[in-house]
Amino acid sequence: MNDKSNDYKTRARRMVERWAGKRIEKNPRQPSAEMYHQREAQHPFMDQDADHIVEPQKHTPMLDKCDVLVVGGGPAGLSAALSARRAGADTILLERYGCFGGVITTVGMETIAWYRYEGTVDSEGIGVEMEKLAAKMGGTIKWPYNDSECLDADFFKIVADHLITEAGVRPYLHSFATEVIMEGKVIKGVITESKSGRNAILAKRVIDCTGDADIAHLAGAPCRKTPKEEMMGVTTVFSCAGVDTEKFLQYTRENPATYADWGQTWDQETTGKEDHLPSPYLEKEFTRAKQMGLMPKHIDTISGSWSALSNAGEATNLNLVHMNGIDSTDVKDLTRAEMQGRRETLYALEALKAVVPGFENAKLRNFGMTLGCRDSRKIIGRYSLTENDVKTQARFNDSISIFPEFLDGYNILILPTTGRYFQVPYGCLVPQSVDNLLVAGRCVAGDKISHCAMRNMMACTVTGQGAGVAAAVSIKEGTSTGTVDVRKVQDELQHQGVRIW
Ligand SMILES: Cc1cc2nc3c(=O)[nH]c(=O)nc-3n(C[C@H](O)[C@H](O)[C@H](O)COP(=O)(O)OP(=O)(O)OC[C@H]3O[C@@H](n4cnc5c(N)ncnc54)[C@H](O)[C@@H]3O)c2cc1C
Repeated sequence: MNDKSNDYKTRARRMVERWAGKRIEKNPRQPSAEMYHQREAQHPFMDQDADHIVEPQKHTPMLDKCDVLVVGGGPAGLSAALSARRAGADTILLERYGCFGGVITTVGMETIAWYRYEGTVDSEGIGVEMEKLAAKMGGTIKWPYNDSECLDADFFKIVADHLITEAGVRPYLHSFATEVIMEGKVIKGVITESKSGRNAILAKRVIDCTGDADIAHLAGAPCRKTPKEEMMGVTTVFSCAGVDTEKFLQYTRENPATYADWGQTWDQETTGKEDHLPSPYLEKEFTRAKQMGLMPKHIDTISGSWSALSNAGEATNLNLVHMNGIDSTDVKDLTRAEMQGRRETLYALEALKAVVPGFENAKLRNFGMTLGCRDSRKIIGRYSLTENDVKTQARFNDSISIFPEFLDGYNILILPTTGRYFQVPYGCLVPQSVDNLLVAGRCVAGDKISHCAMRNMMACTVTGQGAGVAAAVSIKEGTSTGTVDVRKVQDELQHQGVRIW
């Protein structure tokens, strides 16, 4: 060892002095106060008594630059990235997992348009385009009770890759946006964390499609949450193989469920017209399993819908295991719910095998890659969509699309069988106090009940496409997302095939 303070003679002298009880004036190995400060400047450090650590200033490498950066690749993010690119913007789509599709591909929710019973006046745009393309590519199975398509969750990863590649959007997977880059009140980009380390991406406009309004929150835009005990539950979605699908379908024909059967253990509000419609619902089967002692009596969270049945003997998208009181922005809640959901799925599986004809030889095929979350942060926007807007066919001058009168959540189910629809205003995508940031998907501004409409995947594609186009138009026109001429946004949206009025 070259270090002088550590050579044999020095160490021997220190040892002898310690045996002799002499106080060592200065241990050259002991870092000086100055050295401590240098170390602290390079690494996070903590005060033993503090409840936090201090991170030093960092020099973060630049990963990329673009016109429009879309964070989060779910239904909203895909639509935002595609529409921004189609409107001429150089666009990046950033996603924390290894695939695009959001809840579709990472949770396994395949029913993008199950609400489309006869009489529905639907949105038009990228959402319907994705549904049709998936069907054309052989990646769907017809939903049992109307002509909508169940997207095959795994196949949709390929559909999304195809759309992104064909449009010329620059993809970044495995990249978590963890910080924002701000210049005053204007967003300039984000910091990402990945296996490549911490990196910066700069952008002229940023669109937050994270579902949880992560970017708006980090940028300091005001947000709200429904109180945790009232939030919509989270779900562990799973799929089974080894199902005799013909036998199961025969059982459902002999034991038909309607929307009036939903939630025997809670009150559900409908308009009455929903009650007679057929629904792929299982609940009494789990009650029977409980009576047979197959499930602990205290578990009251297992019931819900089945959806696609494949010729290969699969029942996918089993939306059956729910948990309440979980905040998807709290890592402790997420961890608890992931593990509880998997544990309770075993009860659901045992019950299916014992009670539901066709499932006798079923086995667990897979869980969704992650817990499914429906409800968390929503921005406080320039306009906040209300329950009244959704239920009374609201009209707005700054409309970016239409969405049918479809509410699903908080024990309310209103299906759009009447042809009624409301317009979606640009204002609910615009956060307060941060410029050049737009928000799309389930975290747009709105009250508790309007969330039952805007959280639906098709509605998320609508706000995604509106945000993507507005971001691109604002760059082209040299305005900001706050001052963009909405008529020009509407023109481009109509050019892209969106119904505005
Ligand atoms: C169990 C369940 C059942 C549902 N059933 C239906 C149904 O039948 N029909 C229907 O229409 N809707 C349904 N919904 C609602 C619907 O799926 C969601 O509300 C919708 O997918 C939200 O779309 P989004 O694009 O806003 O967010 P998401 O689909 O959640 O996508 C957000 C994406 O952003 C990524 N992301 C998040 N944070 C970051 C970050 N910081 N950095 C980088 N990436 C990030 C995520 O990984 C994800 O891919 C259901 C939801 C759940 C959970």
